[in-house]
Amino acid sequence: MIEFTEEQKMLRDMVRDFAENEVLPIAAEIDKEERFPAETIEKIAKLGLLGIPIPEEFGGAGLDTISTVITVEELAKVCASTAITVDAHITLGTMPILSFGTEQQKNKYLPALASGKYLGAFGLTEPSGGSDAGNCKTTAVLNGDEWILNGSKVFITNANYSGTFVVTAKTQNQAGDSIISAFVVERENPGLSIGKSEKKMGWRGSDTRQIFLDNARVPKENLLGDPNHGFSQFLSILDTGRICIAALANGITHAALKEALKYTQERVAFGKPIYKFQGVQFPLAKIATKLHASRLMTYSVAKKDDAKENVTKEAAMAKLFASELAMKATTQAIQALGGFGYCREYPVERYFRDAKVLEIGEGTSEVQQLVIARKLLEEFG
Ligand SMILES: Cc1cc2nc3c(=O)[nH]c(=O)nc-3n(C[C@H](O)[C@H](O)[C@H](O)COP(=O)(O)OP(=O)(O)OC[C@H]3O[C@@H](n4cnc5c(N)ncnc54)[C@H](O)[C@@H]3O)c2cc1C
Repeated sequence: MIEFTEEQKMLRDMVRDFAENEVLPIAAEIDKEERFPAETIEKIAKLGLLGIPIPEEFGGAGLDTISTVITVEELAKVCASTAITVDAHITLGTMPILSFGTEQQKNKYLPALASGKYLGAFGLTEPSGGSDAGNCKTTAVLNGDEWILNGSKVFITNANYSGTFVVTAKTQNQAGDSIISAFVVERENPGLSIGKSEKKMGWRGSDTRQIFLDNARVPKENLLGDPNHGFSQFLSILDTGRICIAALANGITHAALKEALKYTQERVAFGKPIYKFQGVQFPLAKIATKLHASRLMTYSVAKKDDAKENVTKEAAMAKLFASELAMKATTQAIQALGGFGYCREYPVERYFRDAKVLEIGEGTSEVQQLVIARKLLEEFG
């Protein structure tokens, strides 16, 4: 495993302590009630965790991708809903402004995102499809000093609690060609409205909604980054996002393994704890081995991300591997707990429901394989 710096170790211990004392006690409850844990997110904001990558000059902690990975993994060990709320805010809601914003945009939005005054959200997926994200239907037309946006985005994490939404929309360049650009839409911008909460299988404490842009008026200066490269900017944001989804998956796999180990050492069948049976212990040994590999992949690609190397292929690999492992691990944990694994009294059924979406969000497993396969052609010809 990569060697953490003293600062990273302190962060890990602080987040672990907070997760066990403040997040774990309500994790089952927010899942059952499908309730966004606003009070926990406020505490997380006070700890400075919402501003992890934001430079200190804008009120953030000025930390690296590894620090975000540590935070997301530790939170996901106890509550995937809390982990994705923080993860989506940092990687999807904040990073585009941090990476591509003008000084004016950074000054305007980053302090509010760092302090938690605003939660951030990211709107790429549309009702007509998420995998084919280049086929964007939302439009933006410049009218005097404002962009007029029309369209809608679905499955937007944090939507009801966000102050800013970074969205993609189709525009035209000077040559009249259709291009995809990115915009910062503020919650108060006229014409933005927010739909009802989606009823989900898992991540039930995380807020997911559709947003509607109905002649939404956005100031001209809220165009984000190079208008000709809005789409490639979004894709590069997804690289860091996918690394952090891998971290979230690793946290869930850890939790499933821990619960299975605890239960199987206590449960007795045929006169001995069931963990003594190789049929029970071998699958868990395999999951532990793959979790080790998955964490190595995740931290190694996070380190490369911090070194500003291109991580598109390895981020897709880490996300693919870690999310499929989380599905396998949570399925196996239910099996190890037998009938109780299938009941809500034990947390493994929640882990299982929380794991499934990892194979869908921020690019499905099929899309990760497309990304990897394309990169293979570049490498091997
Ligand atoms: C809980 C949750 C939170 C989310 N949060 C956000 C968010 O904050 N912001 C955001 O923008 N989006 C968000 N999403 C959307 C998510 O990224 C999309 O659901 C995902 O990208 C898939 O898009 P889709 O649902 O439209 O499926 P589709 O694109 O319609 O795909 C359907 C199926 O077809 C397969 N498929 C499509 N094309 C191909 C191909 N070429 N080869 C092989 N298989 C293919 C897919 O893999 C999938 O299995 C969220 C989704 C969920 C469920």
